[in-house]
Amino acid sequence: MKVAVFSTRPYDRTFLEQANRQRGHELHFFEPRLSAQTASLAAGFDAVCIFVNDQADGEVIQMLHDGGCRLIALRCAGFNQVDLAAAERVGIAVARVPAYSPHAVAEHTLGLMLALNRRIHRAFARVREGNFLLDGLLGFDMAGRTAGVIGTGRIGQVVARILLGLGCRVLAFDPKPDETLTAAGAAYTSLEALLSDSDIITLHCPLTPDTHHLIDAAALGRMKRGVMLINTSRGALVDTRAVLDALKSGHIGLLGLDVYEEEADLFFQDLSDRVIQDDVFARLLTFPNVLITSHQAFLTEDALDAIAQTTMDNIDAAANGKPLPHAVTTAYRA
Ligand code: NAD
Repeated sequence: MKVAVFSTRPYDRTFLEQANRQRGHELHFFEPRLSAQTASLAAGFDAVCIFVNDQADGEVIQMLHDGGCRLIALRCAGFNQVDLAAAERVGIAVARVPAYSPHAVAEHTLGLMLALNRRIHRAFARVREGNFLLDGLLGFDMAGRTAGVIGTGRIGQVVARILLGLGCRVLAFDPKPDETLTAAGAAYTSLEALLSDSDIITLHCPLTPDTHHLIDAAALGRMKRGVMLINTSRGALVDTRAVLDALKSGHIGLLGLDVYEEEADLFFQDLSDRVIQDDVFARLLTFPNVLITSHQAFLTEDALDAIAQTTMDNIDAAANGKPLPHAVTTAYRA
């Protein structure tokens, strides 16, 4: 199959080429995001391969169809960037990578927690400047603290088990509790109890209409003063403006983010010579107790390899006229 790969970064190319070695598809790599401005690049291709911030809306899908495209192969789990109804109307199949390494995201979550707690982001900068003072770097033992895990699916499970391993008391909230996690030592509780009893709160549930701004001013108000809040899931789980207020008042003690509500205009780009126009994000960057990474939690060799293999399995199936192993349709229910 002739495939136009959009939003290509060097690591995408490395892992997709590796996964394609025995399969022989013709991959063409494009740096720009897929949009109405760039969709013409895909003319004459059988498939496009896209990522989280590409845009496959109705207009783009019509352009892809006119150019001969018959598959959108997502190299991510989420598919909110694709107009599935429009794809079905013109007969373009859509496939995704439903799961890859949960350890990649879970371990990054722990990285944010430990770095924030022990102020490693500040210590790194200080030591490089020749400042060896310890003032302001006071942390706490994770062992014995209460950590609340919201969402105990693939990633939340791994996070909970690592926290248990560190000696934390782990509280969990999920509409579908998992008995194996209870057996491992975690305690399921109500969302309200988790919010009020936890020293550390970490989010691992999907973004749906129900979970949009799950962490709003009211939820923040229930939390302990000085709480550590971590979000490596989806930006809009958190009301960022309410979080800013809670940071300013000191109610949130430490904040770690790998995702942000308006990240599409910021992340995966080098904007270091530009003025950031997003005032909310710019304000977040000013706090010494906030650590932000730019949607990096998935970025391990193991996860990228798994993403590339599953993406290629989808492309193989489409090329051979077989059912797509990970098709997404309008009939999909999470
Ligand atoms: P999963 O589907 O395995 O687990 C999600 C869990 O959330 C399920 O157990 C579900 O029952 C639970 N849930 C649903 N609604 C809930 C609610 N209102 N409150 C609490 N729990 C709820 O998903 P996963 O693979 O563990 O991924 C979790 C999230 O991580 C994804 O939805 C995605 O947003 C995010 N993610 C981020 C990155 C990254 O690089 N930062 C990478 C992959 C996934």
